[in-house]
Amino acid sequence: MAYTNGVHVVPAIRCQHRDEGERSIFCGNFASWYRRAAAPFAPRYFCHKHKRPADVEIPNDGELPRVRLMLDVFVGGVSWNAGEAEREAAEVIRLAIATVGGVSSPISVTSAIVTWRAARPVGEAIVDAGDPTQPPLKH
Ligand SMILES: [Zn+2]
Repeated sequence: MAYTNGVHVVPAIRCQHRDEGERSIFCGNFASWYRRAAAPFAPRYFCHKHKRPADVEIPNDGELPRVRLMLDVFVGGVSWNAGEAEREAAEVIRLAIATVGGVSSPISVTSAIVTWRAARPVGEAIVDAGDPTQPPLKH
């Protein structure tokens, strides 16, 4: 993992515990405890459930593995007013990301009136508007 010093966007620190035999399933709850490690191993962070007696409170500074995801997110607008719909959508996504300790920083927010057809269940993502098995959309 690459090193970046002095970042300004620091997400919540999450528990790095994983059960033996379940190597790909991490706890992921918010961490409060710090476990020092002898070089070359990195220190680790843990929640209350996975704390060990020698663990200490997380210090005021240190290193953290931070993941940056860059993706497009589409949500249904709650208003036909573009500005109102965009502000509400940005806020609801910010709150959703915060529930997992993430920090979002929207690069851009846009909206459009899109057409859809009821042949697919409501809520199912329509990814390919050019599906040859479906009749063409009316414009
Ligand atoms: Zn945990």
